[in-house]
Amino acid sequence: MPSSFAAHPAETFPAGTPAASQVFTTVLSQGPLTRLELARRAGLSAAAVTKAVRPLIESGYLVEDVDTEARTALGRPANLVRVDGGRALFLGLKLTGDAIFGVLTDLRCRILLARRVPLTDRAAKAVLASTAEVVRELLTEADGYGVRVMGLGIAVSGDVDRGEGVVRYSPFLEWRDVPLAELASVVTGLPVTVDNDVRALTVAEQWFGAGVGLSNFAVVTVGAGVGCGLVVHGRVVAGAHGVAGEIGHVTVDPNGPLCHCGNRGCVEAIAADPAILTRIRELSGVEVTDTTEAVDLARRGDAHARDAYSRAGEAIGRGIATVANLLGPERVVISGEGLAAYDLFAEQIRSAFAAAAFGSAAQCDLQTRPLPFEEWARGAAATAIQSFITEPN
Ligand SMILES: [Zn+2]
Repeated sequence: MPSSFAAHPAETFPAGTPAASQVFTTVLSQGPLTRLELARRAGLSAAAVTKAVRPLIESGYLVEDVDTEARTALGRPANLVRVDGGRALFLGLKLTGDAIFGVLTDLRCRILLARRVPLTDRAAKAVLASTAEVVRELLTEADGYGVRVMGLGIAVSGDVDRGEGVVRYSPFLEWRDVPLAELASVVTGLPVTVDNDVRALTVAEQWFGAGVGLSNFAVVTVGAGVGCGLVVHGRVVAGAHGVAGEIGHVTVDPNGPLCHCGNRGCVEAIAADPAILTRIRELSGVEVTDTTEAVDLARRGDAHARDAYSRAGEAIGRGIATVANLLGPERVVISGEGLAAYDLFAEQIRSAFAAAAFGSAAQCDLQTRPLPFEEWARGAAATAIQSFITEPN
């Protein structure tokens, strides 16, 4: 596969300085912008912007268009700086316990193509073979664009060390200490960025979604697990050891059900899909096998199923209040496949949040956003773009 790149000259991104990455990221997420507005939003001087922009324009990553509408302070037409999305391509993959979702994106992280490959075997070797297959397919399609694919991002749930490129622990894949970045780089020939899936989704939300322009916000995902991505002072928090914002393991009931992490009554042990199914089976004796059945049962008015969902909503609301109390985000975006049941626990999430949020923390805006797995894969592509523009090539 790497041989397919032989025809392309080696290319690097002229990042060099933190100011250059800052300028590029600001234009990427908020552009097109006039240089004046760019300087203001990036918190840099006009001279610093000029210095950072020049090599980015020379190498074609940024372009400057004359905008007849915009005017400078002196009334002259102002030029708008924007990212040339077609300048480079990226791949993003989201691994779940039973499928790989893959996307090909441009430099502005717009999805050009999406693929889904089922996973029948969760062993690292088998997942790697499927990963290579999806990447090969997407690279073949990418050839038609005549632009080089500059990086691959892979998003995995669990404890992921992005710096080292290692999946420390992924409960769904049952992996421990898998050096995924290195392994995937060998089979694909691409630079690989591996990150926690919710953090990757948070990067995409920060740059292109509900977090644009916000310095402090959180993404909370509900579904097979309960995850959380945090942005504090404009940066996605990874934590000193790769773990941060694990609201899934905040204790809400010390006498509650046992969690796979070894503790009792974690948010995840009450509000994740498997926990809800277990609770319904225990209470009602009905052998529900998946969330579709559980949701149907609850919507038909089954008291036990409704109880399981309202308990889940309370746990999620308390978990979100914990985040609000600790970090005071402007907004919390609630997403994940669990949103399919949102009508069954929305009220409980909001009331438990309001009850547990302290003072002004309760003003935090709770927003729901259904983001399908392709969007999570897009988040993985966003991490690859992030690595490309911030790390020395
Ligand atoms: Zn736990």
